[in-house]
Amino acid sequence: MPKKISYSFEFFPPSSPEGIKNSKDTRQQLSAFKPEFYSVTFGAGGSTRDLTLETVLEIKQEGFNAVPHISGISSTKAEIKTLLDLYQQHNIKHLVVLRGDVPHGAVSRGEFKHANELVSFIRQETNDYFHIEVGAYPEYHPEAVSSQTDIQNFKNKVDAGANSAITQFFFNADAYFRFMDECLIADIDIPIVPGVMPIYNIKQLARFASNCGAEIPRWLRIKLESYGDDLPSLRSYGVDVVSELCETLIGWDVPSLHFYTLNQAGIISRIIQNIEST
Ligand code: FAD
Repeated sequence: MPKKISYSFEFFPPSSPEGIKNSKDTRQQLSAFKPEFYSVTFGAGGSTRDLTLETVLEIKQEGFNAVPHISGISSTKAEIKTLLDLYQQHNIKHLVVLRGDVPHGAVSRGEFKHANELVSFIRQETNDYFHIEVGAYPEYHPEAVSSQTDIQNFKNKVDAGANSAITQFFFNADAYFRFMDECLIADIDIPIVPGVMPIYNIKQLARFASNCGAEIPRWLRIKLESYGDDLPSLRSYGVDVVSELCETLIGWDVPSLHFYTLNQAGIISRIIQNIEST
């Protein structure tokens, strides 16, 4: 009997009419897996602020739980407060709270230097109204000064009021297990949900991995490269690899799985069908 596991799915806010229709279709397809929520990313420096809100409201209208991401970098306290007010007016009670990546050419880093400051601000302004998720990094954040300070900085977000966390993607399950051990030692006891990245193509994956400091193991990179332009075979192999990763994580009793959808349903559906059939 397969273990019951819950899912959440992350979207970026589409801007074109085709993109909007495609995202909506994707959500309809993924709704077969009864997701806990659909989350919507927030462009660097608030560049998609309005689109994030629009997408979140659309998801709500479709009858699903919608969770906006919100990032502090380049934002003022007044801007964040306005956004929090809007979300409260729309009865949104769940946020993914991040520092954000510094946008190219940004003049000001705003009033929030790190995510823990934004979590504290949200708690100060809205008490326990929001369920707050934060980011976690089993392979450490690319700016980590040391493993110890990275864990301490993660703990600071929990102490500031985070309820749960979603990890950066990884392909090495051991990194997650070791990170969980370190969290246990540091008295961090919030649920930490693995973020899962499906494999669509090698160039895109390598770009994401290099930007966020996630490792593509050598065996995986060489195998993916061997498919050249044969995308269907590369994706089939990717589905097998990611399904196995998910099965390992589920075997370890993870609280849930969060998929980075890139607004596409097909490959994720195959992965979930695989893990639900074992
Ligand atoms: P922090 O927790 O602030 O950590 C960033 C770095 O600073 C770490 O190295 C940490 O150790 C260090 N640090 C933390 N506090 C201190 C301190 N007080 N002093 C010194 N160093 C400190 N980005 C977006 O722009 N939009 C999104 O929608 C988005 N969604 C994401 C969703 C998930 C699940 C994840 C994991 C990431 C997401 N990101 C998003 C990317 C994220 O913004 C970047 O990874 C960013 O570089 C760090 O964000 P953070 O919230 O983890 O930052």
